[in-house]
This record gives sequence, structure tokens and C-alpha cells, in this order.
Amino acid sequence: MKKTMKTMRASRRWLMAGLLSLILPSSLNAQEFDFTEMRYSPEQTTFSLFAPDDASRVMVRIYKDGLGGKPLKSVRMQYTGKQLWTATVKGDLNGRFYTFDIGRGETPGVFARAVGVNGKRGAILKQQSDGQWDLERPVIKNPADLVIYELHHRDFSIARKDARHPGKFLALTEPWAISHLKELGVNAVHMLPSYDYGSVDETQLDRPQYNWGYDPVNYNVPEGSYSTNPYDPQCRISEFKQMVEALHRAGIAVILDVVYNHTYDIEHSNFQRTYPDYYYRKTKNGEYSNGSGCGNETASDQPMMRRFMIESVKYWVREYHIDGFRFDLMGCHDIGTMNEIRRALDEIDPTIFVYGEGWSAGACALPTERLGLKANIPQMPRIAAFSDDLRDALRGPFSDDTKCGWLGADLLTKKELAIAHESMKAGIAGMIAHPQVDYTQVNYSKEPYAIEPVQMISYVSCHDDMCLTDRLRASIPGCAPQRSPLTPQIAMLAQTAVFTSQGVPFMLCGEELLRTKQGVHNSFESPDSINQLCWENKTLYQQVFNYYKRLIALRKHHPAFRLGSADLVRKHLEFLNTPDDGVVAFRLKNFAGRDDWRNIIVILNAHATPVEVTIPDGTYTEVCCDGVIDEQGLGTVSGPHVTVSAQSALILHD
Ligand code: CA
Repeated sequence: MKKTMKTMRASRRWLMAGLLSLILPSSLNAQEFDFTEMRYSPEQTTFSLFAPDDASRVMVRIYKDGLGGKPLKSVRMQYTGKQLWTATVKGDLNGRFYTFDIGRGETPGVFARAVGVNGKRGAILKQQSDGQWDLERPVIKNPADLVIYELHHRDFSIARKDARHPGKFLALTEPWAISHLKELGVNAVHMLPSYDYGSVDETQLDRPQYNWGYDPVNYNVPEGSYSTNPYDPQCRISEFKQMVEALHRAGIAVILDVVYNHTYDIEHSNFQRTYPDYYYRKTKNGEYSNGSGCGNETASDQPMMRRFMIESVKYWVREYHIDGFRFDLMGCHDIGTMNEIRRALDEIDPTIFVYGEGWSAGACALPTERLGLKANIPQMPRIAAFSDDLRDALRGPFSDDTKCGWLGADLLTKKELAIAHESMKAGIAGMIAHPQVDYTQVNYSKEPYAIEPVQMISYVSCHDDMCLTDRLRASIPGCAPQRSPLTPQIAMLAQTAVFTSQGVPFMLCGEELLRTKQGVHNSFESPDSINQLCWENKTLYQQVFNYYKRLIALRKHHPAFRLGSADLVRKHLEFLNTPDDGVVAFRLKNFAGRDDWRNIIVILNAHATPVEVTIPDGTYTEVCCDGVIDEQGLGTVSGPHVTVSAQSALILHD
């Protein structure tokens, strides 16, 4: 997520009103509230808004356009009790726009389903929903079968020469895009914020603008700058749906990055403008709490905020057929809300995958034992969290880009290497309790956080921080020179650990092209030149692309790598002794997960020299060696002593 600080100030009057509303028992039944703020019919349109009962004047205004011009109509809303205000406007309002105003500035409300340019006004569309446009969602029954590819729309396609719609949702409907994803073998695309966000001006799309989008405005509408016409409220909706449909046809699931934990700011947010201070947490001193690091944190523990989140994910599933959600700073949300979200999604389809960042970016105004933190994952069944344990064990700590991890084994102290090694083992086991993993020696989690291995997201890089190439260059001297052959070699070793882990594998888009962000650590608003994928690299680093493609295929073809259950992992995964901690070796034994292969041995060597490793005696077929993967076999070797080349992975089976 984006790291910027915002400050905000609320007037004393509203502060008091907000405090009162928190104290007064809500007479509204949040459990049944559906946040439909606008109901259209050709004869009339009815508006309703959850807003304080003591608001003096609540207005709804009707406009011809999404921006500018005077209202065609201004109608005072009536208080109906239960903190609900309503108004009915006669006539056919199809194609018009609307705002609410309780005296804090105009807003499209909190749950607009269609908006005009820059999301300033709600849009009234005759056809609010396409209904049954559906295809079946891709069948990915077990999260262990997922291969997640994290993508930013603009990164992915802006520099692609044959893209017809570079930087747009529609780029993902184009044959080159679909064939690239299919060729690589990923089966789920995790999209960086794709709801309407604020940091790109949709009226200025003729100049290049870039943002990751961690500044939500309208949570339930696709972002306008990724559509071909942000002024037309239907356009972004239709194009988003075309994108989902194209991916689904290709058997690729669509996962949304959802950022309910904070808003761009407080003062201008739709939450604050409809019900001041209801949706945000405050500290004991009455200050806005800042668990997001962005100046505020929403209050998932408030009944209507919880309801909002539940209704929002349900809406994306029902209307857009979304297959999963990645919760930004899940550690800001309370456990109860996360579990209710899981339950609500289960009622629709239990294969919808839920995971999140099991941390916050600052102290939250809720006790840590109530928060959706990684350490609390055992209390959130079937919700997964990113493993910074494995990530940092491999590449080095978040706090210092120049410090390497296990991948630069020869540069670490003995103690550092021992911690990295144990953390790698924990990550390979899926962060579950395993008799051979000593969690007291793991870098972060001092006990297993996952009950099941699919509660762990296995990764070495994501949009945050340096991409893998840059991190290797910054932290391992041999990788520093441009085009150093060591960089792809170590990158391949890193991803081998990720993709042979029992967690759910995840990769940042472009790692298969050995992308660079020119060393930029936080590229949330960097120009295209930093963030764009360089597609020429696909030829330049063909070996890397082929290796990842075959590594993913290997995982898909061999259930031993994705056992999905902690008991099976404990039964079949055995770590092997290695000469030292710069080598990690394990065996998936006895036809694990009913694999065709009896035993699979994976040996990862991070040293700059070859090592000899002792394995159970026997004759094995090599399927991964010296940066090449071939499931048909690259040759045979016999135990009990095998040699693994420098900074590479060896995979064998019998
Ligand atoms: Ca926007």
C-alpha cells in the first residue's frame, strides 16, 4: 500500500455529533442494511442515506452531468427514523447524476454503483445490473492449486507495443495478454486497486499519470482511468466485466485488492460526508487513529462499517464475478469482521479465496488480540496471510534494501544464515507446525501462524518494496552489474523456493521478464518508465521465462507440492540434513498427495560454490538442474551423494 501521510481537522460541532452517534445505541439493524442509496424506476427514483439523525438539512441534488453545471433539482431529504433519510424524485432520471449533502460537502454516498468522471457524483443508470452475463467461475477447488499473479493494469500493458488498449481494463481481454498469462501458467490474477480511486485525475488522461491506487474514493465502482471513457458511467462497468469474462474464459480467476482500511483523507471522504466520524476509529485522546499510516483507519468493528465491507465484497462477487479478495492491511480490521466476510462469501461460493496483509502500518485503536494480524490467523479459518517470514528470509529485511537474505548466503553471518534457513523451512512447510521446524529460530513468527498451509501466501516480491531484480542488485555485489548472469540465476533459485512451498504461491507481474523498477523502493506514484514492464525482456531473458513457466507447470502437475492440508504436509514433507545453512533440502516422500512420483527431492543451494548433499540412497531422475527444468528428465543421478551447482536448485524424483 501507499505510504503517505495526511492530516485532517474536523470542526468541533461535527466532532461532538460524531461522538454522540457513537454513544447512542444504533436503532438501525445493520445486519439487514443493504446500502442501496438509489433506486431507479422510469417513474421515479428513490434515494436513501444512512446519516446522523441530528443533521439539520440533508439534500439530494440531480445533475445533468457527472461534473460541473448547476443542479437540475435540489430535494430536501426527510428523516424517517433509524438514521435513515429518504427522498423520492418524480420523473425518469435515467442518465442523470446525483449527490447527497448533509452540510459537509457533496458526495455520491458511500455505496454508489455507478459514478461520473472522478467519482464525484453518483450516476443513475436504467440498467443497474447486467444480471446473468455469467460464465462459470474457473474451478480452483483448493487454494493450494492457485498460482497468483499480482498485476497493476498500467504496469502490465502500457509499454506493450501491440496493445490496443494500453493501461486499460480492456488490455486484459487482448490475445497477447491472455496468451502470456496462459503460457506462464498462472491461474489467478490479483489486481492492484481497481475500484475508483482518487490520485489519478480522470479528466486529464491525455497526460501520463500513475498511481497504485491505494486511495479509495468509491469502493463499489471500477476505476475510471482504466476505462476508455471515464465520463460515461456505463463504460467502466462494461469494460471491467469484459475483462473478467475474458480472464474467466481463459480459466484465470480474478482477485481484487480491497482497501477498506483507510480512505484518501477524512474530510473529503464519502464516509465522513455522509456520517461524520462514524466510520473511523479514534484514539483514547479523541484523535483519529492512524493504523494505516495514511492518516486514518476505518472502524471495521462499527456495525455499519462491518456491514459495508460485507455488502461490498458480496456486490463485487455477484455483479462482477470476482473470485477472491486480497485485504490491504488486514491487520487494521477486526477478526470478527474478517470471519463474517468469510462466512458471507462461503454462502455464495466457498472457493472464493480470501487473504491479506497480516499487519497494519501503525498502531490501531483496537487491541492487537482483536485485529486481523498474521499471528491471529489461527482464529481466522480459511483466511490466509502473506508470509513476510519467507519473503525476508530469502531477500532480506524490509527495512534495509542493501541487506541480503538467504539468497546471498555467503554474505551472512552464521547466526543470520541459521535464522534465514529455519525461516525458509517454515515457509516451505506453509508456516504450519512441523516437527522439524524450530519456530524459536524463525525470523518473525515465533510460532506457526497457519493451521493449514493454504493460510500462507508464499512469495519473495510484490508491488511493495523493490522488485526481486532490484533487490538482488542492491544487496548482492555479484548481481550489481547490469546484465550480470548471476541475477537471473539467483532469481530462479528464489522462485523455486516460492513455488515448491506448501503455501499459496504468488508472484509479482513482470518477475518472469526480470523486471526492474530502477531501484525504486516505493514506486506508488513513479512514472511509467519505472513501473512499466519491458516486454523485450521476454526474449532477452528467455531462460528465466521458460524456467518459471516450467516451475509453475511442475507444481501444477505434481500434487506433492500442494498438499493443502497440514496433516499431509507433516506426513510427507521431510527436511534433509545439509552441509550448512546455505543449503535447504527437503523430500516429499511416499507418493505425497497421490503423486506419480514416489519421492521428490528439492535442494536449494545459495552458496557461490557447488555443494555435496547426502540424500536417501537410490537412483533418481533430474528434473531441475542448473537453471533448466524438464519434467521428462534431464538425466539420472544416484544417491547417497549428489552435487548441487552454485546458486541453483536441484530437483530429483524416483
Ligand atoms: Ca478515480
